[in-house]
Amino acid sequence: MLYRPMPKTGDELSILGFGCMRLPMNGGEIDQDRAIAQIRNAIDNGINYLDTAWAYHHGASEPLLSKALQGGYRDRVRIATKLPTWLVHDRADMDLYLNTQLERLGTDRIDYYLVHSLDGHSWDRISALGVGEFLDQAMRDGRIVNPGFSYHGLPEDFARIVDAHPWVFCQIQYNYLDQEFQAGTAGLKYAASKGLGVVVMEPLRGGNLGLPTPPPAVAALWDQAPAKRSPVEWALRWVWNHPEVTVVLSGMNEEAHIAQNLAIAEKALPGSLTGEELDLVDRVRTTYRELMRVGCTGCAYCMPCPAGVQIPKCFDFYNKMHMFGNEQEAKFMYAAFTSGLTSDGNTGFASQCVACGECVEKCPQGIAIPDMLAQVVADMEGAGFEERLAGVRQYLKRELK
Ligand code: SF4
Ligand code: SF4
Repeated sequence: MLYRPMPKTGDELSILGFGCMRLPMNGGEIDQDRAIAQIRNAIDNGINYLDTAWAYHHGASEPLLSKALQGGYRDRVRIATKLPTWLVHDRADMDLYLNTQLERLGTDRIDYYLVHSLDGHSWDRISALGVGEFLDQAMRDGRIVNPGFSYHGLPEDFARIVDAHPWVFCQIQYNYLDQEFQAGTAGLKYAASKGLGVVVMEPLRGGNLGLPTPPPAVAALWDQAPAKRSPVEWALRWVWNHPEVTVVLSGMNEEAHIAQNLAIAEKALPGSLTGEELDLVDRVRTTYRELMRVGCTGCAYCMPCPAGVQIPKCFDFYNKMHMFGNEQEAKFMYAAFTSGLTSDGNTGFASQCVACGECVEKCPQGIAIPDMLAQVVADMEGAGFEERLAGVRQYLKRELK
């Protein structure tokens, strides 16, 4: 295992972190024996960063991790978990969740504590509720060691959140396709320039970049590489090639995946891919982009829409469905993120577009936004849409329990 230091503290973290969001299941519940064995095996092989959250597995991930870390494992690792921002209504809620998490995890301190899933809007809200003072207080009394945040917002809101608090680290989505999405490369470099460690999530874009059978045009490119690597290895090595990256999280729930990722992590020094190899990854990226239905980069210059349409989100899930073929997942995620059920309650469906045209001239990609939104409506809001919305409500109700 290779290790990289957290810039502000020098804490040596394994470059591969174990994500506890997608643990192995059996009969609708976490397969406890298997999950515990996997986590302990990962630690025995050098992983020392374990990432969970209040919401993962409807609240069952943190207690499972507590069990896995009994028998001397707790002292060998750093635990990362997250404040469920969207459930917090006042300052007292923050202590309530943190204290419950300490109990769930069977520990007296959270080594890396993140304000979960921020964007510009949720940061403004939780900041006004006093999250900065909460983090400072929890650090003073020892419940939190290092404060951080995870980010799912627009590129332009990232830097102001980095600058708003003395964070030690942040967590961003990053992979070779998402270089301009959310924080992106600019955000990675900005955070590093401010001395923050960067934990990367979604290095395989929800597993899609690691599919053993990629689209034929992509497979043909990988076949040209002088070094034969799996799609998973190309995707992970590309992220680790960046010296600004501290830890890469992988949600591993198959023993074979853990072994594969551990082996890849052995070789992943920063700057270890050749120029030729980086060019090849760029060509794969271009090919995936050609498979996209809409050339939207997620820049959000078209926003806000006076009718409330979440234009970049609409195009993101629409593209995902056509690029990777995970139709059910893409449609469910579209329903979850445009319904407002997971955020501020305001809907942003493509079908809200009244074709006023206000967004069109703001788009640097020259996208005929109203026309493309009509296609999104046809594909994503057709048959079964009401049932998917009901499914999202049901999912969130379980999470709130
Ligand atoms: S054309 Fe549609 S998406 Fe664009 S600003 Fe008008 S209502 Fe919003
Ligand atoms: S539609 Fe255009 S302006 Fe809007 S996010 Fe996409 S690329 Fe940017």
